[in-house]
Amino acid sequence: MTIPLIKESEEVSKQFHGLIESCHFCNKPTKYWHENTNNPVCEKCAPLHKVAELPDYGKKIRANKRKKAKEAAATMQAAWDF
Ligand SMILES: [Zn+2]
Repeated sequence: MTIPLIKESEEVSKQFHGLIESCHFCNKPTKYWHENTNNPVCEKCAPLHKVAELPDYGKKIRANKRKKAKEAAATMQAAWDF
């Protein structure tokens, strides 16, 4: 199994001042990512692992975004009730 990777764009690297994340598996610095779970994974580890082995940070981020949107909606509703 292989983990599909995306390469951090030069633009994003510059934005973060060239900060490079460590691979989830071997801890070596890498510019490659698995997009859906938001995990840094290097080119060497990607073919040796599968997506199911990664913690899904992307899921947490997505859930958090939904929660924030809900809270914002509740705040708006409270303002209307007032
Ligand atoms: Zn690695």
